[in-house]
Amino acid sequence: MAGEHILIVEDEPKIAGILKDYLEQSDFTVTHLKRGDQVLPGINAQSPDLILLDIMLPGADGIEVCREVRKFSTVPIIMVTAKVEEIDRLIGLEIGADDYVCKPFSPREVVARVKAVLRRTRLKDSPDRLIVGSIRLDRNTREVTVGEAPINLTPSEFELLMTLMARPGRVFSRSELLDRVQGYQFEGYDRTIDSHIKNLRKKIGEVLPKQDIIRTVYGVGYKFIAG
Ligand code: CA
Repeated sequence: MAGEHILIVEDEPKIAGILKDYLEQSDFTVTHLKRGDQVLPGINAQSPDLILLDIMLPGADGIEVCREVRKFSTVPIIMVTAKVEEIDRLIGLEIGADDYVCKPFSPREVVARVKAVLRRTRLKDSPDRLIVGSIRLDRNTREVTVGEAPINLTPSEFELLMTLMARPGRVFSRSELLDRVQGYQFEGYDRTIDSHIKNLRKKIGEVLPKQDIIRTVYGVGYKFIAG
């Protein structure tokens, strides 16, 4: 399965179920834990990309869990609280969470927050320069060279190439890729990705003909092959 891995820690099955459905619809892979004391072993076993962490939990309280996780991991954490008044207090506690949502929430809103936090984290973590095979990409100067030849990419094409190159071999779904370029434009259709990919292939192909660097994975999306 493509998709970043979200760990939901929530003792109310109904809420967990709704979140799981919405996140899976957005192509995330989801794991669900019901108890606070399952989180630390869960992180080691699953290495999630983000944790949605309820506060009132059996086993261990979400605040404690967040503090414990921060001792060894920078995985993004979104805290889920039942009281809106709690949020100010939580921020004051500086437990190291990345964002807060309050119940009752709209699942759509939670998915949007998850995407926003992941986007922020990626930006922070991504290297300034990527070199895969004969392609070089510089995030600061926005320059891309294939072999020795510079190629001109649109902002969306640049973002797509950077996403694919950062994880060679990993399959990205169209909707995942769409999320990555959404900061630059809003025509939110999966087809948009297909046309960007087509242009990218064409531009790379002018320098490296017959090299199938961006592969289509039938029924899933695209991946970058380190040539
Ligand atoms: Ca709870």
